[in-house]
Amino acid sequence: MKKQAIEKLRKEMEKCKYGSIVHGEGNMDAEMVLVGEAPGSKEVELGRPFVGQAGKNLDEFLEIVELERKEIYITNVVKTRPYKINPKTGRKNNRPPNKEELMFFKGRLHEELKLIGPKLIVTLGNTALRAVTQQGTLTISDVHGQAIEKNGKDFRVFPLYHPAAIIYNRALRPVYMEDLKKLKEHIYRKKVK
Ligand code: URA
Repeated sequence: MKKQAIEKLRKEMEKCKYGSIVHGEGNMDAEMVLVGEAPGSKEVELGRPFVGQAGKNLDEFLEIVELERKEIYITNVVKTRPYKINPKTGRKNNRPPNKEELMFFKGRLHEELKLIGPKLIVTLGNTALRAVTQQGTLTISDVHGQAIEKNGKDFRVFPLYHPAAIIYNRALRPVYMEDLKKLKEHIYRKKVK
């Protein structure tokens, strides 16, 4: 049932005009879902979320929280690669998702999350935080590393910095590591409950 419903949602998204779709992947019964912003070129090439450099960052994340990729479900808010053409090189450069893309994919992300039914949703960066909580004014630097209880929802949101931000801003690394420790306690507490 769940698998068919997710398949139906995927087929519908594949009709969009925004480019090749990179679907979520992993354990559809997972207690924890990881939500990123959008796929990059490697993800589109391989048709999988969080591969290439982003995949390496994810592997480090999983090692620290002692989980395996197959235990969780991994997805993105926007399922196509947002890009702009660099006029000098003619090559595609990543850009943040625009309003139209967010509008199209946000509702579908919520359907996807409802179908998976996780207890814990880990958001990576501002785009995922705002899309999942539906609070456009939240900022990751204010709320990272603290679980957000959603009234009336049976999941908690745990916001983390996007791993790419840690690469651009090395000063954030110790903060990110502290947040991962907190997340780990959270996962562990939840499992033994
Ligand atoms: N790759 C993804 O799939 N999502 C991101 O947010 C970044 C890289």
